Amino acid sequence: MLLAGDIGATKTLLGLFKDRPRPEPVDLRAYTTLAYVSLEAILAEFLAAQPVMPLVTAASFGVAGPIIEQVAELTNVPWRVDAAAVARSIGLGRVTLLNDLQAMAYSVPVLQPSELVVLQEGTRVPSGNAALIAAGTGLGEALLHQVAGRFVPSPTEGGHADFAPRTPREVGLLEWLIARHGRADYERVLSGPGLVNVHAYLHPDGCAACGPSVDAVTGPAAISRAALEGRCARCVETLDLFVAVYGAEAGNLALRSVATAGVFVGGGIAPKILPAMRAGAFMGAFLDKAPMAEFSARVPVAIILNDRAGLLGAAVHAGQGVN
Ligand SMILES: [Zn+2]
Repeated sequence: MLLAGDIGATKTLLGLFKDRPRPEPVDLRAYTTLAYVSLEAILAEFLAAQPVMPLVTAASFGVAGPIIEQVAELTNVPWRVDAAAVARSIGLGRVTLLNDLQAMAYSVPVLQPSELVVLQEGTRVPSGNAALIAAGTGLGEALLHQVAGRFVPSPTEGGHADFAPRTPREVGLLEWLIARHGRADYERVLSGPGLVNVHAYLHPDGCAACGPSVDAVTGPAAISRAALEGRCARCVETLDLFVAVYGAEAGNLALRSVATAGVFVGGGIAPKILPAMRAGAFMGAFLDKAPMAEFSARVPVAIILNDRAGLLGAAVHAGQGVN
């Protein structure tokens, strides 16, 4: 049996999986991360809830944050995750911490066509690299390097790279962000709170369609709904700009990684705004890469619909027997 986890600032998912080419979930449970003092405490509760103590052979956990020497400091969570301490607590030799996007990248080779929405067929080169970009609470990016006939997912902190505007309106957004935050990384635009930033920039007088308070928690859903239902022209504009920047950065990632095997769009936001993702602004910006436009047109692009791809990927990693 494989043990896998996806540890986020808000929610922690744990699962037991049967080891198959695509790991099969036996039991999945969700926990409120901040309600516990450590991952060890969550694991103890998860394992105690099993009717029979499972024979776990390997465990891998995706963690939202950088991992240094198998120790992860979580963003907005007052505890750290130490692979060696977790291994001792569950009496297991092999425990690996992965960056959350790196974990999600491990799911890419086992995803079914029904779990993907294709934005561009392109011309897939199976021996090429792939890349993953995922906007949700934050923005994550991961690379899938092709090494000796298989993908080797590797983490990045690309979501914190500098936002590069392409149009006068986006230049205005950059200036607006710098004035408020001192620096503008891509996450200031491409995340739930980022969508709220774009909204505040384009829509400074408030929005009747979104309701009185557009905060970082409930704002993104309210803005997307108002835009997708066409109830507010400025919200439509907000979502269009967001989607165009998303496509532009996905296109940057394709160029930087030579992702001829595909660019995958994960994270919680894309599946919730599918009509906007398919409307053209995303791929328009993705393809607007002269003199590399022909290259960009060959890169397959797809949205991942599976909202547990991170957990599945951690299970894939646990099953591969590599660290
Ligand atoms: Zn509005």
